[in-house]
Parts: sequence; C-alpha cells; structure tokens
Amino acid sequence: MNVVIVGAGPSGSTVAYELAKDSHNVRVFEEHPAIGRPIACTGIVTRALFDFVERDDDYIINELEGVRITAPSGKTVDIPLKEFVICRERFDTFLAKRAIKAGAEYHTRFKFRSLDEGSKVARFSHKGKDVEVKYDILIGADGPFSAVARASGLLSRRKYYVGSQATVVGKFDPDWFLTFFGSCAPGFFAWAVPESAERVRAGVASQRHVHKYFDLLREKFSGEIVERQAGPIPIFDGAKNVQKGSIYLVGDAAGVVKNTTGGGIITGMWSAKILADCLRNNKNYSRALRPLRRELLLHWKLRNMLDKFSDYDYELLVDMMSKDSVKRILHKYPREYPSKFLWRLLLAQPRLIRFARFAI
Ligand SMILES: Cc1cc2nc3c(=O)[nH]c(=O)nc-3n(C[C@H](O)[C@H](O)[C@H](O)COP(=O)(O)OP(=O)(O)OC[C@H]3O[C@@H](n4cnc5c(N)ncnc54)[C@H](O)[C@@H]3O)c2cc1C
Repeated sequence: MNVVIVGAGPSGSTVAYELAKDSHNVRVFEEHPAIGRPIACTGIVTRALFDFVERDDDYIINELEGVRITAPSGKTVDIPLKEFVICRERFDTFLAKRAIKAGAEYHTRFKFRSLDEGSKVARFSHKGKDVEVKYDILIGADGPFSAVARASGLLSRRKYYVGSQATVVGKFDPDWFLTFFGSCAPGFFAWAVPESAERVRAGVASQRHVHKYFDLLREKFSGEIVERQAGPIPIFDGAKNVQKGSIYLVGDAAGVVKNTTGGGIITGMWSAKILADCLRNNKNYSRALRPLRRELLLHWKLRNMLDKFSDYDYELLVDMMSKDSVKRILHKYPREYPSKFLWRLLLAQPRLIRFARFAI
C-alpha cells in the first residue's frame, strides 16, 4: 500500500511508524525544513504517553510531582500527580527517527496544497516548484488548520482556542506546575509549567482576547521572556468527519483534543494508532474511534460545566478537591481516561454532584 502522510508531528509520525512496521510504502511530507520546529506547545503529558511510545530520557526534560490549582481568591489545593514536561523538538524527532528506522521516508519543505481524489494525486509545493505525489491512502496529520481536511471537504465549522505562552527565566519550584482559574482566564485557565528551577512555560488560552489574559498572567511571572509562542487549539466537536474515500485525518487535524486542557499530543497519537489498526485489519475508522471519542465527550461535558462556573464555584471546587480520597483518585488515573475516574470522584466526594447541572 502506498501511504502518503501530510505532517510530521506526533500524530503523523505515530501512524507512519505503525504502517512502516507492516512494510507499507510510507512517505511523510512536512512543510518545515526541520522536524518539531516551530513549536507552539507547553509539552506537559501524563504517564498515559507511555501507552503509546516508549519512555526515553532524551525527550523528557522535567518530571513533575503535581499540580497546584489556584482559585480566584488565591486559595490553592495541591494534587499529587506523576507528569512529564517534554521537549517537543526532541520528542517529534524521536518519533520521526523511530518511523524512519521502521522503513518510512521523510521529505521536508513539502507543503501540501491540494488533491485530486479521482486520480489519487496529492499536490505539494517544494522549493517554489509544484510536485505531484500518487497515493493509495492519504493521511492528514497536518495540525489544527489541516489543509488536507479542507481540500477533502472534511473540515467542519470548527472552533479554536488560541494559546499564548512564554518561556520566562526566574526562580521557580521545579516540581509543581501551577494553574489559575476564574476571571483571570475565562473559558479556560492559565498555567505555569516549570522546565527547571530557572525556567517556566507560562501561558493562557482563550477563544478571544488572549493577549489581555496573557498580560494578566505576566504580572505573576515578571522575569525575562526568552521565547514566545502562540498557536490554535481545535475545540473537539465530536470528530465525526475523519474519513472520506481513501483520505483519513488524525490528531489535531481530526480535532481529537481534550477540551478541558487543550492537550492533544497523547489523544492524537491514540487516533493514529487506531487508524493504523483499521488500515491493517480493514476496519471502519470512524467506528473504531469510539472509545477515544467517548473519553473526549466526557472532557467536552466537563468543559461545558467549567464554562458556566462563577468564581465562587471555583472556590467550592478547590475546597472539594482538598479531600485526600479525591487526590488519590486523580493521582491514580491519567486525565486521558475520565471514564475511569469521574464516577469514583463522585463516590469519594458526593458534593461534586452540585456541579452536574452545569454539564447539561
Ligand atoms: C500554546 C499551546 C500549548 C499546548 N500545550 C500542550 C500540552 O502541554 N500538552 C499537550 O498534550 N498538548 C498541548 N498542545 C496541543 C498540542 O500541541 C497538539 O495537540 C499536538 O501538537 C497535535 O499533534 P499533531 O501531530 O496532530 O499536530 P501538529 O503537532 O500540529 O503537527 C502537524 C504537522 O503538520 C505540518 N503541516 C501543517 N500544514 C502542512 C502542510 N500544508 N503541508 C505539510 N505539512 C504541514 C506542521 O508543520 C506540523 O509539523 C498545546 C497547543 C498550544 C497551541
């Protein structure tokens, strides 16, 4: 099978690796000259990452002990978690090298432009020239504004958050990442994720006025900015339009992102593994995505709930989360799998039920 993958991010390189292992002719086309650059990502992942890729200390730059959640009044709760900060450049390169070792070919500076599904030809621009590439299977792993999704008519009327982030130099607790909720970041939250005791990735996402909220966050982290990043985060809307003929979408291109956190590295790799399994075993991709979609729908409901929270509700939530049994559950189950822990949380802290009405 002649497989053409557009985009060498985590989702594209995961599906490339899986299909190259099966001895398919796999070619990955990436618009940028280098893999993993430019970066627009905080790079925080749960240990669920290792359900999809082997752990390697080369791409992990910090290990975290937990999250400190800050309510609008400044009240905090510490939740112990085992999480990781990765270097996206090294991580994306690690995944690409793994795919190349399995037999995939990588072509950089190829920007996907259009396609002709009738003759199964994808068109790229490469160093100012138009190049046509034949495919049996075309996979769009080309991120939130997927040109493959647009060219194939699969891009629905998607909404986005805009994430705005800076790497700030100063003195920080390297073991805990911070989150701030309420009117400082309406409709999302602000974060500060330490790379080390000297550098933190501080950012915020929002559907509008993200720069205003970034300026508010900046008051908390006033050290020197050494890097600035911003990028779109697709809002999961059911991810139903993921396949048309021999064209498939994975990762951000398919919109498989957790609406609670904007995290999409692990869920994107999950979708890529599901697609590889479907192509291998002739299964229906859209149907096979259901287990992932189920988890993302729970994130969607949680996001709906949080969007209706007042600052007072966040104060109550922080109180409720300070119970030890709640902390133990959040420590045990990575947030990729809310179906495993939401009902346990309700049993451990029945007062949480008061927020359920907001999810409807
Ligand atoms: C500010 C910010 C912070 C984030 N923080 C986190 C986080 O902490 N944890 C987390 O899990 N997620 C985070 N995310 C989301 C995460 O970055 C994405 O979900 C993840 O990168 C999706 O991987 P992907 O492989 O699907 O797409 P991408 O990583 O976007 O890769 C797509 C690739 O396709 C290439 N491409 C695009 N268009 C074309 C084209 N026309 N032709 C050829 N190539 C093309 C791109 O250059 C890129 O290499 C964050 C996002 C933002 C914006």
